[in-house]
Amino acid sequence: MINLLNLNRQDMMDFFVNIGEKPFRATQVMKWIHHLGIVDFDVMTNLSKTLRQQLKEIACIALPQIVTIQTSQDGTRKWLLQIDNNNCIEMVFIPEDDRGTLCVSSQVGCALDCRFCATAQQGFNRNLSVAEIIGQLWLAEHTLRAENYCVENQSRAISNVVMMGMGEPLANFNNVVKAMQLMMDDFSYGLSWRRVTLSTVGIVPALIRLKDECPVNLAVSLHAPNDTLRNQLVPINKKYPLAKLLAACREYVKIEPHRRITFEYIMLKGINDSSTYARTLVKLLQGIPAKINLIPFNPFLSTRYQCATPDAIDHFRDILLQAGLMTVTRKTRGSDIDAACGQLAGKVIDKSRRQLKFLKKQEVCG
Ligand code: SAH
Repeated sequence: MINLLNLNRQDMMDFFVNIGEKPFRATQVMKWIHHLGIVDFDVMTNLSKTLRQQLKEIACIALPQIVTIQTSQDGTRKWLLQIDNNNCIEMVFIPEDDRGTLCVSSQVGCALDCRFCATAQQGFNRNLSVAEIIGQLWLAEHTLRAENYCVENQSRAISNVVMMGMGEPLANFNNVVKAMQLMMDDFSYGLSWRRVTLSTVGIVPALIRLKDECPVNLAVSLHAPNDTLRNQLVPINKKYPLAKLLAACREYVKIEPHRRITFEYIMLKGINDSSTYARTLVKLLQGIPAKINLIPFNPFLSTRYQCATPDAIDHFRDILLQAGLMTVTRKTRGSDIDAACGQLAGKVIDKSRRQLKFLKKQEVCG
């Protein structure tokens, strides 16, 4: 059985040609699935009865299963989705006046071990398939639309997607790219590249490929302005240090004029929140068309970090603003249901044995 949610437009055309059909069947079926939210072949009335029967025999449209839905006081919604017998992932919907943003997961857990992230502590199980990634958008769009939850003046519920859920999207390159192609395809969700943001720690070779193959809006999780500190907070920095990462960013913005990269900087009390770090950051980003997103740290069980004080965050922001860097402090949404940045955990059967190591370390520390 082939799950049609795994196929981007090219794959779908190949699929129909392979079964002796015309390639235009691809866009017909994509519209049924993604525009209209139909998963029952019998409803696809512009296909012949024989073709519908054949599809029922060889194909399916299988979505993740919703386990729970939680709604925050601020309207943020978090879904726990079952993707196989053992694992669950989370996705988050953040409503605002003029937009609806869906935060999508790309992996079950994460292998990267960033010190301040709850997902990292869960360990890692596997990459999500294209179906499991685009299935998140399908579920959110069509369940919210059924509740008449539409963005102002639009017929859609989700106007923006951020690949900022569980996992490192560039570590699951092929599937994430195909899913993002579907997000932007007019025969599925038709979002502009400006409304599809991929957030990454900066896996440099994959970043270079992304520029050539699917140049969506880019956010880079920087968190520190020098290698010594970044090596501690984001260990993958030892492999792809700042000089290499920023060189790739400089190339990325060359795709076309007016591109900017968002640099995310988590605010950790006493760790990376001093004025000296702010000034180092200004120097580091000189000459790169950038926007800086300061993220107040969201705590989770068993973390040793604390959020920087509001004064420290304001002071840090002011230094960046005075240097002419566009800077905003990200508003924390959904923290009462553990749906804020870095709080997503799902249910991960850890294959990396990180949870075990973490528990042992805790025992030693008493
Ligand atoms: N792996 C990707 C995408 C997932 S995280 C990345 O790292 O970019 C999305 C954002 O939330 C990242 O900037 C991440 O660093 C940040 N984040 C992680 N843990 C956090 C926490 N506890 N509080 C606030 N932000 C956090």
